[in-house]
Amino acid sequence: MKYRLLIVGPPGAGKGTQAKNVSEDLGITWISSGELFRETIRSGSDMGNMIASYIDNGDLVPDEVTDAMIEDHLDAIDPKNGFLLDGYPRTLDQVYALDRMLEAHDSPLDAVIQLEIPDEEIVGRLLSRAQKEGRKDDTEDVIRHRIAVYHEKTAPLLDVYRDRGLLVGIDGLGTIGEVRERLVEKVKGFLLGAEVAE
Ligand code: ADP
Repeated sequence: MKYRLLIVGPPGAGKGTQAKNVSEDLGITWISSGELFRETIRSGSDMGNMIASYIDNGDLVPDEVTDAMIEDHLDAIDPKNGFLLDGYPRTLDQVYALDRMLEAHDSPLDAVIQLEIPDEEIVGRLLSRAQKEGRKDDTEDVIRHRIAVYHEKTAPLLDVYRDRGLLVGIDGLGTIGEVRERLVEKVKGFLLGAEVAE
């Protein structure tokens, strides 16, 4: 079974790290909106500079740009082969845009992983990542702004997916290995349970 999954969580929750692990374990393609944006920025194009102006301030990239980029990638991999989308959708409008993309491919979602960590934990984690990776969107002011944007724009998505019966909550505290084990076990349990119920 080639699953179609999302992972949602605040900045610094460890989404990227865990998303890579889970997609490997399940044999599906990992698609990270943040990574795709950073690639475009590295290309030095006008589009890249435009995207950087949003990201460096901790703001979301406009929906039209983001939706088009994700649509291209989903078309390229064919969603039927399974995927784990990391960092998209991040607004309610993106949720509905994704619904349309997946409907066009007749490929509904199987689960939405919610990786949870408290806000106080986020700032410390991101400041230490800033030292290691030198990401411009990891200064303290920008981090606080990104957390606020998460609560305002992204958290409402969770209610939509909870109502659809797709949400799987995971405690993101602990070592990378502990969270990985917890996550893979719970997500596999959810997916198998859903298959049995069908
Ligand atoms: P993190 O996991 O630390 O939140 P990401 O690498 O997922 O960071 O994203 C970095 C930045 O890229 C975000 O803060 C945002 O500016 C932009 N971005 C990523 N995904 C989206 C999206 N779906 N919509 C709008 N902007 C996005």
